[in-house]
Amino acid sequence: MSAQIIDGKRIAAEIREEIKRETESFAAKGVRPGLAVVLVGEDPASQVYVRNKAKACEELGFYSEVHRLSAETTQEELLSLIARLNAQADINGILVQLPLPKHIEEKAVIDAIAVEKDVDGFHPVSVGNLLIGDDALQPCTPSGVIELLKRTGNAPAGKHAVVIGRSNIVGKPVSILLLREHATVTICHSRTPDLPAVVRGADIVVAAVGVPKLVKGDWVKPGAVVIDVGVNRLPDGKLCGDVDYEDVAPVAGWITPVPGGVGPMTITMLMLNTLNSAKAAHGIA
Ligand code: NAP
Repeated sequence: MSAQIIDGKRIAAEIREEIKRETESFAAKGVRPGLAVVLVGEDPASQVYVRNKAKACEELGFYSEVHRLSAETTQEELLSLIARLNAQADINGILVQLPLPKHIEEKAVIDAIAVEKDVDGFHPVSVGNLLIGDDALQPCTPSGVIELLKRTGNAPAGKHAVVIGRSNIVGKPVSILLLREHATVTICHSRTPDLPAVVRGADIVVAAVGVPKLVKGDWVKPGAVVIDVGVNRLPDGKLCGDVDYEDVAPVAGWITPVPGGVGPMTITMLMLNTLNSAKAAHGIA
């Protein structure tokens, strides 16, 4: 028996269809979600991400603005652009593509984004709201993980979830979301002794480590759900996750492939955040 594949591409397409339908239904009321994407410098990977975000906006009927700034842009210039976007009524979401050039302090930039337009969910107030269980725009990759679980009949309630990784963008927020969904959550990191033994106790494993093929078949409880957030480039140019897919798939009950698992969910959840932010701005429930 081999694990059932969690098809992130299909689930992302399903959610985008829902977003598109909702967006069309608001058009008659004159409401159009708007996303501003800001790119500083010429990082090739960031350029691809920014292009994909603009394309997703177009496909869904959103208004979008892409601000491409030179690598020499000062922090003050970037902050004044953010202040402008914060005040712009046709913009519901602001995304500053990270990483930023070294002379710009990332935290100052994230802190400057209006909380109600923080579609990346990285603002400290959004993070605080997430933690205390208030309404908040949720970070995209973690909320994508939760959608993958729910939409495959693997709701986390009552399950033991083991998260490997404690970064602010994936490990910590996905742990909080799993807790909010009533899982019992264990968070592991580089100082966790006997990681395989801890992972063996999991009904749900979320790997967000950045180490290619770290999680092996004999770490996984038979039938467990394995979500691989990792995206690693191998020397031969191929992509692989943090889970040794060939080794784990025969043991797990469900597994996400890389690519085609968590990846397609991230931009989709960004679009959903932008839609929700537009609804909130127009008082639509
Ligand atoms: P990160 O900031 O580098 O954090 C990695 C975490 O893994 C840290 O908490 C680290 O522990 C832990 N870790 C490292 N080596 C370990 C080991 N051998 N055993 C146990 N824990 C270990 O990475 P990230 O930004 O969270 O990203 C993680 C992965 O997800 C990367 O491959 C990244 O490319 C991918 N990613 C994918 C998406 C997507 O859309 N699919 C989005 C974001 C990230 P310490 O805290 O102790 O150092």
